[in-house]
Amino acid sequence: MKRIFRAGVVLAAAALTSAPRADTPVDALKKSLPPVVDPAAIDQSVDPCIDFYQYACGVWLKATPIPPDQQIWWRVSDLDEHTRAVLAAILEEAAAGHGPKTENRRKIGDYHASCLDEAAIDAKGLKPFTPELDRIAVLKNKKGLAGLTAHLHLIGATPFFSFSSTQDYTEATMMIAQADQDGFALPDRDYYLADEFKSERADYRAHLARMFGLLGDGIKKAKAEADAVMRVETALAKAAMGLVERREPENVHHKMTLAELAKLMPSFDWKAYLVGVGAPAFTSLEVSDPGFFKGLEAALKSVSLADWKAYLRWTLIHGLVSSAPKVFVDEDFAFFDQRLGGQAKIKARWKRCVDATDEQLGDALGDAYVEREFRPEAKQRVLAMTRQIEKAMEANIKTLDWMSSKTKVRALEKLAGVAYKIGYPDKWRDYSKLEIVRGDALGNMERASVFELRRQLAKIGKPVDRGEWSMTAPTNDASYDLQSNTIEIPAGVLQPPNFDMKTDDAANYGNLGALIGHELTHGFDDEGRHYDARGNLQDWWTSEDARAFKVHASGFVDQYGAYVAVTNSSDPSNEVQMDGALTLGENIADNGGIRLSYEAFLRMPGAKAGTDSLGYTPAQRFFLSYAQGWCVNRTDEYAKEAAKTDPHSPGKCRVNGVLVNMLAFREAFACKVGTPMARARVNRVW
Ligand SMILES: [Zn+2]
Repeated sequence: MKRIFRAGVVLAAAALTSAPRADTPVDALKKSLPPVVDPAAIDQSVDPCIDFYQYACGVWLKATPIPPDQQIWWRVSDLDEHTRAVLAAILEEAAAGHGPKTENRRKIGDYHASCLDEAAIDAKGLKPFTPELDRIAVLKNKKGLAGLTAHLHLIGATPFFSFSSTQDYTEATMMIAQADQDGFALPDRDYYLADEFKSERADYRAHLARMFGLLGDGIKKAKAEADAVMRVETALAKAAMGLVERREPENVHHKMTLAELAKLMPSFDWKAYLVGVGAPAFTSLEVSDPGFFKGLEAALKSVSLADWKAYLRWTLIHGLVSSAPKVFVDEDFAFFDQRLGGQAKIKARWKRCVDATDEQLGDALGDAYVEREFRPEAKQRVLAMTRQIEKAMEANIKTLDWMSSKTKVRALEKLAGVAYKIGYPDKWRDYSKLEIVRGDALGNMERASVFELRRQLAKIGKPVDRGEWSMTAPTNDASYDLQSNTIEIPAGVLQPPNFDMKTDDAANYGNLGALIGHELTHGFDDEGRHYDARGNLQDWWTSEDARAFKVHASGFVDQYGAYVAVTNSSDPSNEVQMDGALTLGENIADNGGIRLSYEAFLRMPGAKAGTDSLGYTPAQRFFLSYAQGWCVNRTDEYAKEAAKTDPHSPGKCRVNGVLVNMLAFREAFACKVGTPMARARVNRVW
């Protein structure tokens, strides 16, 4: 358990591992957060020059099993639990009618209370779903599919495709409509097509049949419906583009007129769809993947109406399952989380409801969270860090030996154009038009989905709002948006063990600094480099420089492609290899990010401080802090899914894969060239 490192003593860890873990908000709030650098996590029996990840994380890895309600557990996951408990306290207070008497507080309290009341949801059974199921049942012909799809998209189901708005790829100041592939429930197209997922497919089919059974269908009918859904989703998956292909911006940028889209998919009544979904008038849109819509057209022609109805019922119950009776929730958990993710136990209801409220009423909850948890001085400190890291990037670009001065001018322009959003938005979202009713869990969820999709669609044809946030304030993460050239660093990430106002520069730059550097480098990775300072998809590279970029990047593709993502000790032939192309952008960002942060850190007074009480130099503390940010245990199932779908490398590779490329690391730990952590060949892009 995480709490064991609080005291920073290994012996205490052993004594406390059998203590029950926090399963109520009060328990979670009692625990203190782990320090940014935790000496008690280090395995002193490991040589840091042989396996630095094992050295930095070894004791923690052994002492910290994955909690039964999780699939992946980081050293930083204690912060997630802490934040969720803070949010639960806010929501319980709001639900009880205490605290500020605002309409937003009333809404988050009512939303949460309705979600928590499992007994009331169970007592209603499928009744709240009946009007939706009836709409599907009365469908008379395929022409009616478009209007029905619009309705389902609004209430939170995703049949066929997705439709929303995005920043215009070539006119970066404006928003445009966007249609993209979607409509299949397994994590990736390969789950339907590749041999390695045969057994997952068989179990998925059984899950589908059980869900239809719960909807009231007899065994024979349920099995036939499961087969129908498999046929439909396999056809969609076949038509869909793979994740690696989608990394190339030109592959997902196809601006066309509505008439052209209608020609691509003439069997679908686009007019009825757009009216149904409430989109404003527009003439052209982004169709991310025209091949997918062509495939959808073929399916529309060949699949029978009865099969489409089975598919739509499935997308409805699957999309809204968290507000369905417990038997549905349990069945959904058993397949998607347990079978595919290796999670032993479903999360406590209060945790799921906090997450749902954060997802659907994020700014109303985030406002209350910031009031309680955020310290404005943290924003100043982080802003100062971003400036230092940006300066390091500027120096790096200027001295890069593989880039011409012509492209450097444009790269520096792009760097100067990056905007930082730290903490929380200047303007909170307005929920006044969203109706939340105590006791109506499904209705609340549907209305919140309608509200969100309508909000997205209302942006079509309007100027881009660069100040808008995509993450909620309590989120323990950060992001870079390549289309708006902005970085989000939410309040939720600015806490230990990521960052601590009270700790030294070495620790803060090693962890949060590397994260800032990582996001900044995304603007210049294999995807980000295609966008200019204002976020236009525009080639600002000379052809020689683009070639040089690819040569340097290919070093990472080869290096990471050689790592094993999932080891299987019982069956070595079942090992899963990492995908160096899928993870290229994140690996470029990891490698660039820590370099920038280290160079920024060297300019801090803390870089010249003496050794700490354990004898670590500031440089050593910097790298320990970096590595301990990635200490992680994962279930084998989760690891297998991540190897296929996650563009991030596993924690161990994010540490060792990066540090083997850093000369400063081998100097800090006196690793001789030829030891595993000091390879002769060093890869570098930025
Ligand atoms: Zn990233």
